[in-house]
Amino acid sequence: MMATEAIKYIIGIGEPLIGRLILYEALGMTYREMKINRDENCPLCGETPVITKLIEDYDAAAENPETFEPAAD
Ligand SMILES: [Zn+2]
Repeated sequence: MMATEAIKYIIGIGEPLIGRLILYEALGMTYREMKINRDENCPLCGETPVITKLIEDYDAAAENPETFEPAAD
């Protein structure tokens, strides 16, 4: 489903899943949709984001996540 969302977003078709979450239960083949409110304090997409770019060294971040900091601008 995430790959489908990415393709839809990239080529600009359909209704994106922005602001919604789909809970899929494979055993019963059922799903539910929930509305997700935006978090104004989110470090990535909030009012004052502190994460503004991708990290440069994924191996170092995975080995020592406690001291990980996003790359400088
Ligand atoms: Zn966010």
